[in-house]
Amino acid sequence: MGITVAKFGGTSLADADQIKKVREIILQDPSRRFIVASAPGKRYPDDTKITDMLIGCYNLAVSGRDYQSELSKVEKRFRKIIDELQVDISFDEEMEVIDRHLGGSSPEQEYMASRGEYLNSKILAAYLGYTFVDPAWCICFDENGDLDLFMTKRALGAALRPLKKAVIAGFYGADPSDRIRTFSRGGSDITGSLVSLAIGADLYENWTDVSGLLAADPRIVDDPKGVEYLSYRELRTLSYMGASVLHTDAVLPVSDLGIPINIKNTNRPEDFGTVIVRKMPKGKTRYPVTGIAGRRGMTVIQVEKVMVSDDAGFSALMLDILKNMGLPFEQCLTGIDTITLVIRSDLLESRKEELISEIRETLKPDFLGIKENQSMIAVVGEKGTEACDANVRVLEAVADAGIEISTINQGAGKLNLLIGVPEERYEDAIRAMYDSISI
Ligand code: ASP
Repeated sequence: MGITVAKFGGTSLADADQIKKVREIILQDPSRRFIVASAPGKRYPDDTKITDMLIGCYNLAVSGRDYQSELSKVEKRFRKIIDELQVDISFDEEMEVIDRHLGGSSPEQEYMASRGEYLNSKILAAYLGYTFVDPAWCICFDENGDLDLFMTKRALGAALRPLKKAVIAGFYGADPSDRIRTFSRGGSDITGSLVSLAIGADLYENWTDVSGLLAADPRIVDDPKGVEYLSYRELRTLSYMGASVLHTDAVLPVSDLGIPINIKNTNRPEDFGTVIVRKMPKGKTRYPVTGIAGRRGMTVIQVEKVMVSDDAGFSALMLDILKNMGLPFEQCLTGIDTITLVIRSDLLESRKEELISEIRETLKPDFLGIKENQSMIAVVGEKGTEACDANVRVLEAVADAGIEISTINQGAGKLNLLIGVPEERYEDAIRAMYDSISI
């Protein structure tokens, strides 16, 4: 029998009823031996996540204000879950430790933020009869708060291998001084991926409140199709471009071993969801385009100078300017006599004048133009854009909708076609593109 790592997100574990569903799911398949749990999330749209409540307690404590009433809200929520599930954990003592930490001389934000995962995992482990594993012992961060993958793989593997069934708290670990460190928000996805890697799992299930990834943003496109299969690379590109279904750093650990990730819906476990794989399984239809996603808030800078393409040093100088300014760019396109930069407007904001004068001084361009309020849209499909005329149809659709295209970019990998359009036509462009291709 294979090993499945199942990670359950905040909405899947938001209250006792949700946790009961989770138990049903886990018990249905004996290969679900390693469970990664988030803190209780939102029960309804304007509810507050436990993690945010805990960070709120920390903020009150460090500013010398009374945190007790906020902390008692956290306590009440957990106590309700414990009572309804009738689990036996030493909750009073756990809360005392947290209270003492907050009232102490130097409360720590990351410690507080992690307590939702810690308590929820203890509850879930007791409810399932699984061993609780505290990642403070086996997910290793360095002194700077960055993950130490090498150490983590060893420590986590050693901690989990002897266990038959375990619940591991998501989102945090500890540094060499035993200080609790957290990943960025949504980071329990990363814990799930690390557990899968360390144990050599056959499958990483990521249980959430949607039945997988959609081919386009449903707030823009009516009823977009679900994506059944996609590659790690496609997911990475779609997530980078704004599609949110999994933490972007959760892909790398499992992709090394080629462990598939299955995004599943706790509220509709019968749905297939989305499976993220290295290679598409044989016999599955591959659509020319897997998905469309985009990002607003871009600035396009156009630099023109005759004979640019004959002078290799020109592009290098441009990249040097950006490097020296520490300014990351989204795209740098070179053409005959032109270089075009696409930069996130929020990063450029206070540095625009500096960049412009650097370009003018160093490159002495014949023309320098700036287009603000641009957006970038990625049409993503592994080899898809090569296999058919999807590119042509997408571009035609945008042109037919009367939308000005500011940039077009496709690398030799043909994983995605990136198109720049004005922000005010962003949604129209996505709709036109989606309608033009069969996904
Ligand atoms: N509870 C943390 C958050 O709200 C981590 C997670 O849910 O993955 O971001």
